[in-house]
Amino acid sequence: TDTSEDTDQDHINVVLRVRPLNSNETTRKDQFTCTFAGAGKIEVDNNGSSRQFGYNVVFEPDATQSDLFDHSGVKKLIDMALNGYACTALAFGQTGSGKTHTMTGPPQQFQEGKQVDPEMYGIIQRSLKYLFRQLNQQHGNKIVRASYLEIYNEQVIDLLNPNMRRYLQVRWSKNKGFYVENLFVVECETEDDLNAVLEEGMRNRQTGSHGLNEFSSRSHSMLMLTIDSEMQDPDDENLYITKRGKLTFVDLAGSEKVKDSNSTADTLVESNSINKSLLVLGNCISSLGDQKRRQGHIPYRDSKLTKLLADSLGGNGVTLMICCITPSSHHAPETMNTLRYASRAKKI
Ligand code: ADP
Ligand code: MG
Repeated sequence: TDTSEDTDQDHINVVLRVRPLNSNETTRKDQFTCTFAGAGKIEVDNNGSSRQFGYNVVFEPDATQSDLFDHSGVKKLIDMALNGYACTALAFGQTGSGKTHTMTGPPQQFQEGKQVDPEMYGIIQRSLKYLFRQLNQQHGNKIVRASYLEIYNEQVIDLLNPNMRRYLQVRWSKNKGFYVENLFVVECETEDDLNAVLEEGMRNRQTGSHGLNEFSSRSHSMLMLTIDSEMQDPDDENLYITKRGKLTFVDLAGSEKVKDSNSTADTLVESNSINKSLLVLGNCISSLGDQKRRQGHIPYRDSKLTKLLADSLGGNGVTLMICCITPSSHHAPETMNTLRYASRAKKI
């Protein structure tokens, strides 16, 4: 069936989450720069000049983790993946804005023997629960395959196989599209299996050879699920149709620009390629958000990140962008950048 004539409305959605001021910001007596104007509208003041932006949904600082899961549209994304579509939820924003908090919740839970309040679970854990609840209601065979990787400085690192010394290559084939060669794949039969994959990947992300917050703020992490499910044909209950959908969760590198003039040559290369990935993503998203340009050339091939997200971003794929900001006046210029970037994906 040809759905390319669908309105572009549902291919890319953008929601915004404003976290509360943190103790640092409060101690410094930072101003709260956001005004909520209802129905997805927000006004931000940057040193006396203010601007209004509109998104699908705006979450105010008192929004809970379950509010995010229930009202961001991520459930619909999972339903689409179960129906054979390629779907991606990605968190975007400057370092410290709440991307990881939104996607996976507090980091302590991934340390050996530590538990956190399930109320604090992020979008990923809630999605895995919802995914298996939906799958378990279906009669046919189903299998979920999981991989977890990180892109750092345009190099792909397997988070499930950290002893692999080599960087992995991104290849393209007619059948699979873009894929990562030799990536470790775990077959998961239950929600627990998938949570174990998440935990292992997060632990390797935190304690890996680089092991620094610095590193995680400069890398993109991607949890990629392939979902094969047999569904009963609505017209013939003896007939099953197999669908293959994809569901990817991305915790993007911090979107801040490198301002440090003391950066060594090495860190400049590093920040260039990170900005490159985010820049290319921005270019792809802004082309895709425009009905006419959507049919034209989209520069997926210009970064590893966009190659791997190509099927979710284009075609019949579905992407949910969750932008995270701090309301602090101290960060208002960077927040403006985030909001402008997000607006390129979705003009409302
Ligand atoms: P990022 O991943 O974007 O760098 P984090 O998710 O690590 O940012 O968030 C930075 C800090 O702010 C963390 O200590 C986190 O627990 C806290 N934080 C982020 N978002 C919220 C929120 N909505 N409510 C309470 N604390 C938050
Ligand atoms: Mg983070």
